[in-house]
Amino acid sequence: MRYIVKDRYGRPVNSIRISVTERCNLRCFYCHREGENYSHNSEMTPKEMERILKIARMLDIRKVKFTGGEPLMRDDIVEIVRRASRLMDKDVSMTTNGTMLKKYASLLKNAGLMRVNISLDTLDREKYRKITGLNYLQDVIDSIYEAVKLFYPVKLNFVLLKGINDDEIEKMIKFSADTGAILQVIELEVPVEKENLSFFQKYHLSPKFIEEHLEKIAEEIRYNELHHRKKFIFNFSGKRAEVEIVRPMHNSEFCMNCTRIRLTSDGKLKPCLFRNDNLVDILTPLREGANDDELLSLFKEAIMRREPYWK
Ligand code: SAM
Repeated sequence: MRYIVKDRYGRPVNSIRISVTERCNLRCFYCHREGENYSHNSEMTPKEMERILKIARMLDIRKVKFTGGEPLMRDDIVEIVRRASRLMDKDVSMTTNGTMLKKYASLLKNAGLMRVNISLDTLDREKYRKITGLNYLQDVIDSIYEAVKLFYPVKLNFVLLKGINDDEIEKMIKFSADTGAILQVIELEVPVEKENLSFFQKYHLSPKFIEEHLEKIAEEIRYNELHHRKKFIFNFSGKRAEVEIVRPMHNSEFCMNCTRIRLTSDGKLKPCLFRNDNLVDILTPLREGANDDELLSLFKEAIMRREPYWK
């Protein structure tokens, strides 16, 4: 029997975000690493992830997003996606830094990947190197042009960084019109281990300012009911650009609309991006031979531990 479980705040859970590895080929200075502390534990195998997704599916969770670390660091990523896509029929997506996507894009598409988010915080080579530590900007741009041929939507994750890329919004909107990818301007979240005010004060800029600016210059503004987000539409000589703003910090609306559970790369169900004190280990029992009912109750336990971080 399949049923949707709601948490204690009445929020249904309908999607799962799996960190498939904590390894990454970039060193983005602001990275929250999906709220994970480095565990150096062994990664889940494709079969183990499939088993956990089978349990998720019993709870009518039918959407999965793969993240990391960098998901394409796994050389079995195509198998992971193939196994997942048999179960997660509503959405199979991935967030990637795009440095290796060009090579994998059509394999992933054939394995069942439906859409992709590609991280791109700047179009300036020198800034890209400063933010990520490496010189892969051109590889990412090539991947974006390849991805838009295969997937819809392709979203560009642009984390707004005060004094670093806040002058690039209009350039990014033009790039999004040129490629056909949707631009997501994302508010900087405080990484777990950098939870100090000076880091936040130095780089955080509320996207409210960008939103106010876009309200003045956009051709059209739409409201996305599902995500409670505004969408700004632009037109550059017949080429359309869409911009969305994601504001997770101090935003009770963001938390009230959260329908997601996370799975860390070492197999722990994680009820909230911002917390590490309420994880539920599902991989150890699975490896020790737990049956479906036992794994199901661990899943339900993790859902019951969910609570809005920003209330
Ligand atoms: N390596 C992949 C990538 O770069 O997309 C997936 C993992 S990365 C942690 C997932 C997304 O989180 C990226 O778009 C990244 O920009 C975003 N991100 C990382 N740290 C963040 C932070 N402190 N605030 C907001 N977004 C962040």
